Amino acid sequence: MKKIAVFTSGGDAPGMNACIRSVVRTGIYEGLEVEGIRRGYQGMIDNDFLPLERRSVANIIQLGGTILKTARCLDFMTPEGRQKAADNLRSRNIDGLVCIGGNGSYTGALKLYEEHGIPTIGLPGTIDNDLYGTDYTIGFDTAINTAVQAIDKIRDTADSHDRVFLVEVMGRDAGFIGISVGISGGAEGILIPEDTHDMEKIHRYFDRSDRRSKSFSIIVVAEGDQEGGVLVLSQKLSEKYPDLDIRATILGHIQRGGSPTANDRILASRLGYSAVHALIQGHKSQTLGIVNDKVKMTPFDEAIHKHKPINSSLIRMAEILSS
Ligand code: ATP
Repeated sequence: MKKIAVFTSGGDAPGMNACIRSVVRTGIYEGLEVEGIRRGYQGMIDNDFLPLERRSVANIIQLGGTILKTARCLDFMTPEGRQKAADNLRSRNIDGLVCIGGNGSYTGALKLYEEHGIPTIGLPGTIDNDLYGTDYTIGFDTAINTAVQAIDKIRDTADSHDRVFLVEVMGRDAGFIGISVGISGGAEGILIPEDTHDMEKIHRYFDRSDRRSKSFSIIVVAEGDQEGGVLVLSQKLSEKYPDLDIRATILGHIQRGGSPTANDRILASRLGYSAVHALIQGHKSQTLGIVNDKVKMTPFDEAIHKHKPINSSLIRMAEILSS
């Protein structure tokens, strides 16, 4: 192995830059040449590569987003697109790839390996924490901290005006962000896709006479929850409880940006470092994650198809703590 390339793909996540830095500096330390690919698979097809040196990744560990940019690339979903990408990689003598992204990016990397034999190590870069094979994904910790800071601020207004705030957080069809933000934000209710009884709990909460006398509440709602989002939900709850002053807030993309937390920087650094060593050791089609504080390797196929469950004891605990 003489030359590797690193790219970011799918949605951006805080900590991707720390991960790029780690791949570049570990690669160079191990005597490899390292290139970056701009805009993920799109750049691979467009031959948009750049050489990376130690200094190229100076002063980026604290930056959100990704210096390599990211993109969603439809061409790569076709065999012709992947052929072009493979031709470009071969013409540049790239022996291995580090792909920082989510499930879709993993799927692309698996196909590139199966069709063209190009080894790739996938690293979990998404705020949603919904990837199998790792306890945490790069960007999750930053995202939940951003959301909790927002909730602390909303709580001031909720308290001052005696209002109920429904706060929608990201997470797609998974409730990792929702449950974590709900617990750490001290929410009175948490609605996540994995909990099919969560709406009953909300009604129980509002129906209890002692709770109705409490002046304000924060309800965290995961975007993938079955209730259809905070706007629909606030309408329904307002009709059922006309005496409550209910407001809806969608936190949206502020959760995706910002300087990564120390935890995300450490996670990204560990995974980037291990990815380079995995390529050097000859691993070809694997993802890396951290499980019980140890780096764990999972084949792409398994990481793509296995479901990562939410810790159900957290759901029970959250209910008890909020009552
Ligand atoms: P995020 O979790 O942020 O959505 P992701 O990696 O899942 O990240 P996607 O948009 O699903 O994001 O995938 C990123 C890119 O991976 C796609 O734009 C496409 O180029 C490639 N890709 C996704 N699915 C496939 C597939 N089935 N075959 C080939 N390439 C794919």
